[in-house]
Amino acid sequence: MLYLITPTYARETQFVDLTRLCQTLLLVPRVHWIVIEDAEDFSPHVTQFMAECGVNYSHLHAATPPLRKGRICQKIDRRIGCTEHRLGLRRNGNEGLVYFADDDNTYSIELFKRMRSIKTIGIWRVGFLGKMRYGGPLSEMTPEGPKLTGWHVGWDPNRPYPLDMASFAFAARLIEDNEVHFPIQAPPGQLETMFLERLLGRNAKLEVMDTDVTRVLVWHTRTERPSLGLEGKLPEAPNTPVI
Ligand code: UDP
Ligand code: MN
Repeated sequence: MLYLITPTYARETQFVDLTRLCQTLLLVPRVHWIVIEDAEDFSPHVTQFMAECGVNYSHLHAATPPLRKGRICQKIDRRIGCTEHRLGLRRNGNEGLVYFADDDNTYSIELFKRMRSIKTIGIWRVGFLGKMRYGGPLSEMTPEGPKLTGWHVGWDPNRPYPLDMASFAFAARLIEDNEVHFPIQAPPGQLETMFLERLLGRNAKLEVMDTDVTRVLVWHTRTERPSLGLEGKLPEAPNTPVI
């Protein structure tokens, strides 16, 4: 089973992103989608969306502590979702793989196919990262398989494991083997590397997946906020849709 952990929060384009991700996941076998609302309570719209989405899922909620939502975090590390990710981890069994799938990225189903070969921690490159066309591990082929040779990273390349949340997936059992918790107190931008350091404890190593150097299979996309300058200025239409 592949467990995808997706934090999500209310905004104009929330259902745009959830719809796109959901419809990608409908093409992926053996997937369990853990969707965690960054909110004090369940939203009825997300609840209905999940019930109708057709993907095997768990729906949770956990509000990110206000501390994490501060100005610095917003600016440098908008990902946040720390609480959400951590909650998702706790709910996992020890079988299968875990992948943190932000709701606004774009995923090729080929990525999910290739993930199945991960033994401990699989890593790969992500499109549009750190002000570059792509970022992540560099590798060369050896008789023993692909070997990690370095990193191609725009932002803070001195981090021990300078990866994006979308750049890795791992065996769920590592969480329990290494007693890993999500580093909720991580300074902005250090969440991934701190988490990986913990995960790498016993019996785990980074397995480079992207030896096919011509391809990127996940992109760090963002959905543009629509222009809503006239919203609320016209008389309210009947049957306002949920969008
Ligand atoms: N997110 C959240 N609460 C927030 C901000 C973001 O749950 O206050 C979720 C968001 O829906 C996404 C993930 O956390 O699944 C990463 O957020 P975002 O895409 O804004 O981060 P960025 O792409 O800028 O790193
Ligand atoms: Mn994003």
